[in-house]
Amino acid sequence: MTKESNPKDFAKHQRIKIHQPDASKADRFNPRNRIYVRAIDGLWTKLRRQMGWVAMSFFLLLPWLPWGDRQAVWFDLAQQKFHVFGLTIWPQDLTLLAALFTIAAFGLFFVTTYLGRVWCGYTCPQTVWTFIFIWFEEKFEGARNKRIKLDQMPWSFNKLWRKTAKHTSWLLVSLITATTFVSYFIPSRELYIDFITLNASGAIYFWIIFFTIATYGNAGWMREIMCIHMCPYARFQAAMFDKNTYIVGYDSARGETRAFTYPKARSKRNGIR
Ligand code: SF4
Repeated sequence: MTKESNPKDFAKHQRIKIHQPDASKADRFNPRNRIYVRAIDGLWTKLRRQMGWVAMSFFLLLPWLPWGDRQAVWFDLAQQKFHVFGLTIWPQDLTLLAALFTIAAFGLFFVTTYLGRVWCGYTCPQTVWTFIFIWFEEKFEGARNKRIKLDQMPWSFNKLWRKTAKHTSWLLVSLITATTFVSYFIPSRELYIDFITLNASGAIYFWIIFFTIATYGNAGWMREIMCIHMCPYARFQAAMFDKNTYIVGYDSARGETRAFTYPKARSKRNGIR
């Protein structure tokens, strides 16, 4: 008779710690208990910002780029044609598009195996938009400690104008994002003129409002909650990692000793000379 193996016995034997979710920390995932990000600077942050600028510029300018008598990138749903510069993709070419997406997905997996979460850190739209929103947050509400204090304060004129300015700027960025996104499907000039003169169709207003709310919610309120709970890429990233993958990790040998030590002693303890 074979004895059924119990994973807990195995863990005990192998000294593997079984992760037990701590219910008392569930509040950490409550959007109200938000993380107050401290501004940091340095080479990699600068690079992240610059990558964000490049991605944003592409996104904003591409619908304005002309190509003959049409815009260079135009997903014409009414005519079922996707124009990408000189290339026109018809419905029967969608298998090509599927192949392109497959190649892009495998490219992403390949990069993830070597360089870890570079996509998340440098180019993911969630990161780029969150950076922009945090920039406005800092401009109107100040650095991290000031923001914490402001949130704990009772309502006053000072708090009201700062919060109003922050949310107005977030909504403006979200509206620009939404109209730009829709202008990949409706020619830009036509879209903006119809939108401003209130002559656009109900469907256009619906999608612009929808994407405005989605952007405002994602980058303003959800931020890391999106990554933790909703992003499919985050779910299977760990499957692509091996011991040579670059990851940003916490080095307990450097960070866990809480007592004050002189820099020289600390370097010696950590094996740095
Ligand atoms: S986890 Fe997903 S949403 Fe979050 S930064 Fe990475 S790819 Fe973007």
